[in-house]
Amino acid sequence: MASIPKTMKGVIIEKNGGTEVLQHKTDLPVPEPKEGQVLVKNDYIGINFIDTYFRSGLYPAPQFPYILGREAEGTIVSTGSSGDFHGLATGDRVVWMAEGAYAEYTAVPAAKTVKLPDGVGEKIGAAAFLQGLTALTLIREAHHVKKGDWVLVHAAAGGTGLWLCQLLKAVGANTIGTASTEEKVALAKKAGATHMINYSKDDVKAKVMELTDNKGVAAVFDGVGKSTFDLSLECVARLGSMISFGNASGAPDPVTIARLSPKNVRLMRPTLFNYLVTREEFEHWSNELFNFVVKDKLDVRIHEVYPLSEVKRAQGDLEGRRSTGKLLLDPSK
Ligand code: NDP
Repeated sequence: MASIPKTMKGVIIEKNGGTEVLQHKTDLPVPEPKEGQVLVKNDYIGINFIDTYFRSGLYPAPQFPYILGREAEGTIVSTGSSGDFHGLATGDRVVWMAEGAYAEYTAVPAAKTVKLPDGVGEKIGAAAFLQGLTALTLIREAHHVKKGDWVLVHAAAGGTGLWLCQLLKAVGANTIGTASTEEKVALAKKAGATHMINYSKDDVKAKVMELTDNKGVAAVFDGVGKSTFDLSLECVARLGSMISFGNASGAPDPVTIARLSPKNVRLMRPTLFNYLVTREEFEHWSNELFNFVVKDKLDVRIHEVYPLSEVKRAQGDLEGRRSTGKLLLDPSK
């Protein structure tokens, strides 16, 4: 194995703002793995909407300078001098979910790292992990979707949206998806949405009610947030679940709890990280996800692999609604 350099390429922010605050550096110190940590040389870094929240300040960065990014695929090049490494060792090809991903090397807790299973390629592993686990825990834990359920998924051609379409098809749900262009509508339909609505021009509520005999859907999975929240609540059936899991259009406004009583709606605001707190949970959901990928031959759509040095363009495409599926970064470029 090649020796570990002292410095590396990476992207930091020193303040909050637009994509202009993203600084690509070539001389960041390579971190030292501490107790229970492994040092991973990243091959492919996953971009997620949450990265833009930490950049903009919607979510507070723990400190400045701060390295953005929550997940990557790569190879373990060293381990801390002590601690529980959960059976992982130098040379293992892994995927991980923690902090500090926009860099060539990241020191991550072994507890938040799993081996990439045989039959799953490097890019696919990187592209599948955080968004696939989000979709899986949403349909199993946030609202356990059953065969035949009607479900509404916003931004169905996005990274998480395409995962939801595929997993919901696999469990036999009737998925109504929304997207903003005809190209995205076609893509989500191909991924498994049974019906698609172009929410930039069509009446979503009218179509949902028409499809569901005026009952509404058993669950709405809403990662768009501010611009769709009210609509989502209108589309939920009596006794249904309103799962608000993101802020792509901005954080939803505060909700008066009394708004839930006319239909006895369950409202939930889950975050993936709180489903993956223990090692047992982390392994359970990771295994389940990769079983789906391998056995159900899921199609993991990669929008583009961007050079890390072009991170501003990558985040701009995600926020500008120009992407479909997963955006990855290549830290070597
Ligand atoms: P996506 O690839 O889905 O991109 C976001 C999509 O949202 C866009 O492509 C766009 O699709 C739609 N959108 C609607 N309005 C806007 C707007 N004003 N600005 C930008 N996009 C808009 O991103 P991700 O899959 O990474 O994330 C999707 C959502 O899921 C985010 O809110 C994210 O925070 C959330 N999430 C939450 C997690 C959790 O644990 N709670 C974990 C992972 C993701 P269109 O053009 O079709 O409208």
